[in-house]
Amino acid sequence: MKKFLSILSVSFLILLMATSPAVAQQPEADRQADDKPAAPFQVFDNLYFVGFESACAWVIKTSQGLILIDSGYVQLPDHIPGAMRQFGLNFSDAKYLIINHAHTDHTGAANHFKELNRGLRIGMAEGDWEFQASGTYMNSQGIPRKFTPIPRDLVIKDQDTLTLGDTTLKFHVLPGHTPGDTTIEFTAIEGNKRYKTILFSGLGTAFRGVKAAQEHLDRIKRVMAAPDVQVTLSDHTMGINLFEKAAKLKARKPGDANPFVDGPEAFRREMQPRLAAAEKKLADERAANRP
Ligand SMILES: [Zn+2]
Ligand SMILES: [Zn+2]
Repeated sequence: MKKFLSILSVSFLILLMATSPAVAQQPEADRQADDKPAAPFQVFDNLYFVGFESACAWVIKTSQGLILIDSGYVQLPDHIPGAMRQFGLNFSDAKYLIINHAHTDHTGAANHFKELNRGLRIGMAEGDWEFQASGTYMNSQGIPRKFTPIPRDLVIKDQDTLTLGDTTLKFHVLPGHTPGDTTIEFTAIEGNKRYKTILFSGLGTAFRGVKAAQEHLDRIKRVMAAPDVQVTLSDHTMGINLFEKAAKLKARKPGDANPFVDGPEAFRREMQPRLAAAEKKLADERAANRP
């Protein structure tokens, strides 16, 4: 059915997705062709935004090198390395590229990055290594997207941690939007302040069966139970009002709070529709009697 959506209804769908996080599960397919590089900016002492108008990409600076989160598009391979240079960050200092999920707005430039920096380790969850290995998937409009797969490297498992220098990332694998969709927990630092940060991903429910739905729900609840989350980030800009906060950050006066520190309530508000979607999915799978 999705294939036959008219332009009008696709636009409506995008509008719907833009206003309702609960259905913002696979929005990037509609936006990939139009996405453009955005002005990069430093968010915290150890975090930089180097992404696009829609798809996010981030750099975490540690005491022993850089961790990149997502690579952006195959057709825009130079944006992230160029954005990094603006802050004096050398691409050769990148030790890891972590893919939050294996859609091509997040994986597209990964093979190029590996050519630029042969020592770069690329990490993603098992489900997404498999998902992207064939070099094609159906986008949200039912059109196959084709790409060069990334050769398998670091396999992330649920609850794994990755430590580089003074920084540790914790991974919550939440299959749904893709089979290896991964939410990332780390600490943002500003001066002597440290803020627990959750970078969540699509968190969709594109799976079947009560078992998968129960596991998805349990993991969302576990992520939501994380105490004292001060910073909520995402794989796309719109859900977290990234540019609004960036403008506030730019206009910030000494002593003002960092607008990206929006506290545990904002985190719960952001997660609530995803929890509701997960609960509905479980109820639907039970009703359909799909084990
Ligand atoms: Zn995306
Ligand atoms: Zn996606």
